[in-house]
Amino acid sequence: MGAALRIGVIGGSIAGCAAAVAGRRVGADVTVYERSGAELQDRGFGIVIPPPLHRELVGSGYLDAGMETAPVATRVWLTREPGGRSTRELARQPSPVTPCNWGLLWRSLRASAGSVRYLRGEPVTSVGTAADGRAVITTERSEERYDVVVGADGHASRTRQSLAPGLRPEPAGYLVWRGAIPLSALEGHSRELELLRGAWVTLGFPGGHGIFYLIPGGSRDTAGRTGKGGRLLAYAIYGRPPADPDADPGPYVRELAEEHFPAAWAEIVAHGTHRTTACHPVADVQVPRAARAPLLLAGDAAGVTRPHTASGAVKALQDALCLERVLREGPVVAEALERYADERTAAGAHLVELGRRLGRAQVEETPDWAAMGQDEVDAWFRGVLAGTRHYLYAQDTPSVR
Ligand SMILES: Cc1cc2nc3c(=O)[nH]c(=O)nc-3n(C[C@H](O)[C@H](O)[C@H](O)COP(=O)(O)OP(=O)(O)OC[C@H]3O[C@@H](n4cnc5c(N)ncnc54)[C@H](O)[C@@H]3O)c2cc1C
Repeated sequence: MGAALRIGVIGGSIAGCAAAVAGRRVGADVTVYERSGAELQDRGFGIVIPPPLHRELVGSGYLDAGMETAPVATRVWLTREPGGRSTRELARQPSPVTPCNWGLLWRSLRASAGSVRYLRGEPVTSVGTAADGRAVITTERSEERYDVVVGADGHASRTRQSLAPGLRPEPAGYLVWRGAIPLSALEGHSRELELLRGAWVTLGFPGGHGIFYLIPGGSRDTAGRTGKGGRLLAYAIYGRPPADPDADPGPYVRELAEEHFPAAWAEIVAHGTHRTTACHPVADVQVPRAARAPLLLAGDAAGVTRPHTASGAVKALQDALCLERVLREGPVVAEALERYADERTAAGAHLVELGRRLGRAQVEETPDWAAMGQDEVDAWFRGVLAGTRHYLYAQDTPSVR
């Protein structure tokens, strides 16, 4: 029997841990290099994935069946009543999703990667190719050779530069603020919480929108979060950047909500002080080819889609499933990576393009939400999707009403 395939993974977050599971499942000898010295932090952020993907990942041993999720099947569109501060519901659409807590998702993938060598506090300084065609990963402490290197080093990936020199993320010109609030801080909001127990919410305003949904609280509670079975309210609010680029994200996003949201939802956002609010630039980038042996890119390193698609982590998980499949299909690594590149480059490019369209519709050129009802929302979205399919829009399921 020959020596096991050696796989080096750069980045130990969602894409890196998922790729490590893929490698382990094909019997490879896997080493993960993670720049961060601390355990990757659970900030309680929400990550939504499609229910069939969740089932597939549990069935194939990537995720623990016991990892908590908070599934719902409906999307509700809200806006502020014109001239007032009350909430108006525009539409409901079928939209089955499986919301996860980022920290629980990462820990579950990390546990499934099991005994792989996971080097914390070990930033990769360069990746090269040796004369024998194998890849060389260099850090300050070591230089090692691998048959395959997975670049899973995120949106600002340096590994991407090896496959696509000079390619940089293109800013969308707007921002997203996200955070999570313990339900214990929202006692006066029983009506909104009741809605969120059965649906995820999109709240439209001129020049942006907010997304709200419940996620599992996670069991490691240091800031008032409940244990198993508890929930956090996760939110993501898209809008124009503040005039002062150094503005503190918490106060700015609360002002935005105060200006545009119905009173009840602005009050919810005002509780965001209970957890940190993080601000992320929104950007697009996609490599022309996701692999060239012995290198391949996974997750945000391969391409960044705007978060409206709720698909960056989804893509990273699908990348890992694809990697496992192509490595099983045949023993020639270069051919396996070509098949990976064919499949995953096209999938990434599709998401980047869809993310741009969703961004245009929901942030850059927002409709007159207040004048819309169910039929207008349905027709508007059919136009935005332009015949393509996406898991957040279950077009074939009969309308919820
Ligand atoms: C507001 C918002 C909401 C989102 N919602 C969703 C959603 O609902 N569903 C969904 O699927 N996706 C969502 N996403 C996208 C998702 O969060 C990302 O696509 C995903 O987390 C990317 O994972 P990754 O492992 O590729 O990158 P990252 O999580 O960025 O990890 C990269 C890792 O590489 C390490 N690294 C970097 N350089 C080096 C180096 N030189 N050496 C060693 N290690 C290195 C870093 O320390 C880091 O741990 C959302 C994103 C945002 C901003």
